[in-house]
Amino acid sequence: LPVEFESALPVIKTLEEAGYEAYFVGGSVRDTLLQKPIHDVDIATSAYPNEIKELFQKTIDTGIEHGTVMVLDHGNGYEITTFRTESTYTDFRRPDEVQFVRQLDDDLKRRDFTVNALALKSDGSVVDLFDGLSDLQHKLLRAVGSADERFNEDALRMMRAVRFAAQLDFNLDPETKVAIHNNAALLKNISVERINVEFTKLLQGKNAQFGLLALLSTGLNEYMPGLKHTEIDLWGYAELLAVDQAHTDGEAWTLLAFELGLTAADVKDFLKLWKHSNEMIQIIQRSLRLLNQLRLDNVTNWQLYETGTAIENALAVLKLSELTIDPEKLRQRYQDLTIHQRNDLKLNGQTLKQQLKLAPGPLLGQLLKKLEQAVVAGQVVNDEASLIQAAEEYLQKHPSV
Ligand code: ATP
Ligand code: MG
Repeated sequence: LPVEFESALPVIKTLEEAGYEAYFVGGSVRDTLLQKPIHDVDIATSAYPNEIKELFQKTIDTGIEHGTVMVLDHGNGYEITTFRTESTYTDFRRPDEVQFVRQLDDDLKRRDFTVNALALKSDGSVVDLFDGLSDLQHKLLRAVGSADERFNEDALRMMRAVRFAAQLDFNLDPETKVAIHNNAALLKNISVERINVEFTKLLQGKNAQFGLLALLSTGLNEYMPGLKHTEIDLWGYAELLAVDQAHTDGEAWTLLAFELGLTAADVKDFLKLWKHSNEMIQIIQRSLRLLNQLRLDNVTNWQLYETGTAIENALAVLKLSELTIDPEKLRQRYQDLTIHQRNDLKLNGQTLKQQLKLAPGPLLGQLLKKLEQAVVAGQVVNDEASLIQAAEEYLQKHPSV
């Protein structure tokens, strides 16, 4: 057993010794059997939440209404979830009711894919009710039970299917794929934030190309914000993914925006539809402005300067894109800029105001911007005397400002 399981064994043993069943479940079991590294382990048990809490000294109610209790043991936290079933989904997303049960079988039945429905016992044996082990071996993602019913219960599972296919480099079982195709429109019922999470993971998957092509061929994109009728652009994106894929969320979304041919002005609305953070929107917008410029022409020092801290993201996307510009040369040009932010000017606003006896108003800001541009363009040396002189000359030439 990997060390993450070993260190959680005492928790399982405590539950077993109290007469309950307890298993490792979910992604960590799947990934271990695939010999992949795991991050966190999930434990499922026949004990009810109050029974779990009685057995351990330190617990946190992280999701007690769904049956999840976090147990703290030797500085580690373990999510322990009571076996449960989910009954009648009326809104295509969440069960109307979660019911705690004592049987592992019932808990495994509600899980999405066969490879996610394996349970690992403390003695190392695997409970495999739906041929998940065989699907693991054949690299197949297959819904537990009727794919059609499962996607009707919870439409997010369709996004999870293409995401896992990309991450695990698995094929979609034919019945599962057809069911996605037939139910794609149900995605309308799912919140954009949750679709975003799955799509973002897909784009960074080991076989992101396959995941994106599966998403397109099942028509899921028709129900994703801003991606209706964008197949041609997304095929272009998929082609790039054959070589390498994005390694951060920022890269994935910048490349997407670039391949969709969005302008730096349009991208904000697009990213807002997807509920991205303002910080993320800024990075993408700045990167996209530079990339769009590079698609047309060379860039000026000022354009590099304005990219600012988004430069690393922009260069990473440049490397992934179809443009054949050397990112290293651009990085060098960026590093060689005389200044990288307004603060680097060897003249502060206060001094400038006093020296030129400026009245309060927007003029100070305008002048600083001019100086910034002149220094970045190499027209003015970055020392106080030169900057003041340049500001005076500018005022003489533009008496109206
Ligand atoms: P990851 O490595 O991305 O965390 P995971 O398989 O652990 O993958 P989670 O979203 O953490 O995925 O969910 C844990 C487990 O809960 C899954 O393996 C699956 O058994 C079950 N599960 C999660 N979401 C759903 C869902 N929408 N429908 C059915 N079962 C689900
Ligand atoms: Mg997980």
